[in-house]
Amino acid sequence: MPDTFIALGSNLGDRLSHLETAVLSLGRIGIVVAGSPIYETDPLGGPEQGTYLNAVVKVETDLSAHDLLGALLDIERGAGRTRGERWAARTLDLDILAYGDETIDEPGLTIPHAEIRNRRFVLMPLADVSPGLADANGPYADSLGSVADQQISRVSGPYDVAHQRWMDGIETATDVTGEGERFHVGTSEDWANPTGDMFGAFLSTVVLRSIEAMAPDQLPSSLTYRFVHGVPLGAEIEVEPIRVRATSRSADYAVSLSVDGQIMGRSSVATIAEPRTLISAPPMPDVLPLSACVPVEELFAPTGRLMGASVRSWRPLERWDVPDLVNGSTDLLRAWSPNVTLGTDSVYLRAAAILMPIDALIWPSAMYRLGLLGTDEIVVTPTLDFSGRFPDLSTDHGWHLAEVAVDHMTDKSIAGTIRVWARDGGYLSVGTSHNLVVGGDSLLRKVPCASTEG
Ligand code: ADP
Ligand code: MG
Repeated sequence: MPDTFIALGSNLGDRLSHLETAVLSLGRIGIVVAGSPIYETDPLGGPEQGTYLNAVVKVETDLSAHDLLGALLDIERGAGRTRGERWAARTLDLDILAYGDETIDEPGLTIPHAEIRNRRFVLMPLADVSPGLADANGPYADSLGSVADQQISRVSGPYDVAHQRWMDGIETATDVTGEGERFHVGTSEDWANPTGDMFGAFLSTVVLRSIEAMAPDQLPSSLTYRFVHGVPLGAEIEVEPIRVRATSRSADYAVSLSVDGQIMGRSSVATIAEPRTLISAPPMPDVLPLSACVPVEELFAPTGRLMGASVRSWRPLERWDVPDLVNGSTDLLRAWSPNVTLGTDSVYLRAAAILMPIDALIWPSAMYRLGLLGTDEIVVTPTLDFSGRFPDLSTDHGWHLAEVAVDHMTDKSIAGTIRVWARDGGYLSVGTSHNLVVGGDSLLRKVPCASTEG
């Protein structure tokens, strides 16, 4: 059976559900063997219209190219597509990009599709599902450079063929493969960062995801995490349980993380069967207005999303430079996050979302203390030790307020305490973060920031 690649696009109505329904329909005329992440893209040409969601799927089918086109047009009609003005807004557009090695050039059908090399919204997802795919002129991916000016941002993880849905962002990072104990941490594109390593909250997310696979019915109640190396970009992390102790109400997991047999860090996660208030909650500070604070979301990827967080994305640094934020103290910083739910009901991902500000706030704090805010330099700490506790993850509290106090800082280390509250005043977590510089320079390593987009 020839491998066929089909481009999907929608910019009218419930765009995501048009794409989802389309992939399910394709599953009835063939086997969907892979699907790219979804990209949100600006329309190219045509009348004024909204942004598109685009993706590419790889399908194995017995249908001929002509019959396949007929089937695609049927699926488009099923999604309520009407054809009027050329390149106008549409509920669903399905194009055959390639059909095995076949070339067809007829009035109603051109294969490979004539516009592939001109469209970033096709080239990017195509490269995700088939990086080496080529026509007679060479690999399609070679054309990515010439369309680099077209606006496009990745808004999901890859298509999960087994569960027939697109994975959300954080799963992109942890992309569970195999038995749920190996995690692929994504490509340099996802985790662009000047040091080429991954740190902190994101490795904790990997740990939490692996524990979730082992203890799906329990709530995470605390996590401690220690690593001695950054994890190289694109690495496959093996998460191996090294100890499990359980009672009928709770369990304690210790896991090691390794890459290529080399231990990168270890973590311990406690879980409980029922929520219980284990620590007394300090009241939420009343120093807001929130307008004085920085949305935590802005600390993450250039798109403002939580996925793909990277050091490069410490964009709004100057906005941290708010003197007198709390009684004139410059050591206490606050940030808030509108809704860090990661689009999931998973309490483990909720815990990960809470850990992100815990880990993340240390960085701008260090930069603040080093006087680097607003400059083009960032601080990198290659070893990290942090812990977080979650008194109550049984309900979703909406947005978070996080507060960090820098406890101690030398030229080789920074340590701080972070507390996280929910909007309703619920106390979500307390965490400490110790960052040490090992090897290399005697100073906290300063590296130039990669340019930020937008
Ligand atoms: P576009 O996809 O360019 O925005 P349409 O979806 O309206 O526009 O497609 C117009 C016509 O393009 C289709 O009716 C179909 O006959 C023709 N066509 C030619 N080659 C292909 C191809 N490879 N995949 C899909 N449609 C194609
Ligand atoms: Mg079309």
